[in-house]
Amino acid sequence: MPDADTSLETLRSEIRGFFAKEYPQDILARLRAGETLHREDHLRSQAALAARGWGAPHWPAAHGGPGWSLAERRLFEDEYVRAGAPTVVPMGLIYVAPIIIAFGTPEQQRRWLPDILAGRSFWAQGYSEPHAGSDLAALTTRARREGDEYVVTGRKTWTSLGFWADWIFCLVRTGEAARGGAGISFLCIDLATPGITVRPIIAIDGRPHLAEVTFDAVRVPAANLIGEEGQGWTYSKQLLSNERIWYAHVEEKRQALRQVRELAAAMPDANTPDFRRRLAETEIAVSCLDGFVERALQDDGGDVASLIKILATETAQAITELSLDLAGGLAPPLLPERGAGWHDAMPDLPGFIVPAVEDYLMTRAQTIYGGTNEIQKTIIARATMAL
Ligand SMILES: Cc1cc2nc3c(=O)[nH]c(=O)nc-3n(C[C@H](O)[C@H](O)[C@H](O)COP(=O)(O)OP(=O)(O)OC[C@H]3O[C@@H](n4cnc5c(N)ncnc54)[C@H](O)[C@@H]3O)c2cc1C
Repeated sequence: MPDADTSLETLRSEIRGFFAKEYPQDILARLRAGETLHREDHLRSQAALAARGWGAPHWPAAHGGPGWSLAERRLFEDEYVRAGAPTVVPMGLIYVAPIIIAFGTPEQQRRWLPDILAGRSFWAQGYSEPHAGSDLAALTTRARREGDEYVVTGRKTWTSLGFWADWIFCLVRTGEAARGGAGISFLCIDLATPGITVRPIIAIDGRPHLAEVTFDAVRVPAANLIGEEGQGWTYSKQLLSNERIWYAHVEEKRQALRQVRELAAAMPDANTPDFRRRLAETEIAVSCLDGFVERALQDDGGDVASLIKILATETAQAITELSLDLAGGLAPPLLPERGAGWHDAMPDLPGFIVPAVEDYLMTRAQTIYGGTNEIQKTIIARATMAL
């Protein structure tokens, strides 16, 4: 029987072989060239991973996960980043699927999980509303029960990739209470249902990443309710805990820091003692993050999720600030849509800089979404002081 190290090395070479041959090479090439990916690219990426049995490393084997140990999952993550594959879009695979697995009925699991796994459906997260962000329990989108249906009326906002999505999971108010966690339910809604309008919102980098989704007396089958009516707040907290741990992206950060280090070595003007100190501090912060993630993966992660969220997002911002420092006074343009050959029009600009500007701008949002970092500090303070 092979020892653990040998089987890890066997898995490593299988994964490398997969990314070198079976995985769509055009997606890797376009990402390397700094081109913009679209909905179909993400779905195709997921379909290729699922076809190999690696579409959902963190799902239980009974629902299509590969049944990997923690070490195997981490190895896969390392190799995924090393291959230069796109960051997984998390709303279906990482956010809602574990909730469907934990609280959904067998019928709901059969209905939604295979499509998420195989890259046949795209999901969005409908939590925030115009007057319910940090104070999420103030949400007012209402779902009134009428026979076998809910009639949903209200407005969700800042919905990431809402215009790409087929489905949205929403927190809706089903109880009589006007505010607070009681009476909130977790409902999955087909975005093709009459009465739904999705309007794009242009983000800071010039792309329509976000959407406003309005529901005007939308009739949703009651069979789309996850778990019990009125228990949505409990499920949503578990989802947010998973979401906050997901932000860690340790290996992506290490890869980005390696790139910054290599670029800086060739740019003596930018590679100052102060720059090297910040680079070293950020590398240390990523090692700390790695330790917290290890701990979170070994238990349910709830107690360190807020810490991970703060450290992951602040470190992500620090990395993009280092990248932009390397751009010096080059004043790169904002290019929201980069197709093939986008760089030919600006041969004097190093290729990394335009995507780096986009990353810099988008990481500003990381300390806001998923619960702002100020709110995470309150959660930590409450837990540590047992308030
Ligand atoms: C790029 C992006 C993508 C997003 N994607 C989604 C998505 O897919 N689905 C979704 O549902 N939502 C999404 N959001 C929304 C996000 O979750 C909210 O923006 C966030 O929860 C903050 O809410 P708010 O914008 O209403 O700000 P507010 O809650 O109004 O906060 C404004 C400021 O006040 C501070 N503040 C508020 N209350 C307190 C307090 N009690 N103590 C200390 N400070 C406080 C906040 O930290 C913040 O700095 C996204 C947001 C962004 C920017």
